[in-house]
Amino acid sequence: MQSFTSNSLDCLWTLSIDTLVAVRRRYSLWVSGVRIDDTMNCLPADSKKKCRSKVSRKSVFLLCIVFSASAPAAAENGNCGFQLVTIKGTAVEVEQSCAALAKVLQTFAAIGFRIDPEFRLIFKDQVFVERLDQAGQLDALRVLGFFDSRRSLIEMTSFQSSHQEERRPWGVIWGPEIAGSILHHELAHMATFAVLGDGYWRTDPSWLEFIAYSIEFEVMDPSLRAQILANNPSAEAFEGVLKVNPMLHGADPDRFGLRSYLMTRDKGGLEFIRRVLAGEVDFSTSDIVWRR
Ligand SMILES: [Zn+2]
Repeated sequence: MQSFTSNSLDCLWTLSIDTLVAVRRRYSLWVSGVRIDDTMNCLPADSKKKCRSKVSRKSVFLLCIVFSASAPAAAENGNCGFQLVTIKGTAVEVEQSCAALAKVLQTFAAIGFRIDPEFRLIFKDQVFVERLDQAGQLDALRVLGFFDSRRSLIEMTSFQSSHQEERRPWGVIWGPEIAGSILHHELAHMATFAVLGDGYWRTDPSWLEFIAYSIEFEVMDPSLRAQILANNPSAEAFEGVLKVNPMLHGADPDRFGLRSYLMTRDKGGLEFIRRVLAGEVDFSTSDIVWRR
């Protein structure tokens, strides 16, 4: 966990505490080592100990979410041929983003969901989500990428980030291949939002992650997937749907993602994801309330 000073801040929004709750529900964060849980705590992946104090609705009424822009201005713009898509990154990032988008759209189309993409995608050397903690201190989380459904915005760590040594999802050294895979994950969130609409905000965040990870691994290059499975030989599919919960996601997002994919694979692959998205399952994926 690191803290960051205001000179790394690119933009700043202040939100009421009511909005905080809404924003919490509308953010899907792919976090390296830490994540934000349902109460906006952050949990280190390798420890049970909370790394920051809980955000209290009573004691905090302002939230600042700040994203840094330490990288130089993006070099290229692109839209992949879609009127409502904007991508800012290097020429290679724009090209690979369009390929990633095509792959995700094809995957959703294959299970019956036609998506008209609408989002902005910005690549940065580092991506942060920052906030005020209970003590009013600025609290920053570095993430690999995120999708903000409220603003139809994806921010992604640059494929050529200068902090590559600190980026090792599933033990894989950061580079275009694993970065492209994380981008599939964020685009899967975008597509899931397009499918579910307002239902996205009523879905348990851990199920949104389950879907995004499953899509990510389904479309992953087989050699990369084999490498990740080899790096994590003890990972097993979730034993049951109740294991898909914020606690297990918070404890170890990497492991949660791999177990999600393995469960999806065991339950029929993309057809299982289709049934989850269509609500054709005998369990609830909604936030908080569980039927069984
Ligand atoms: Zn995610």
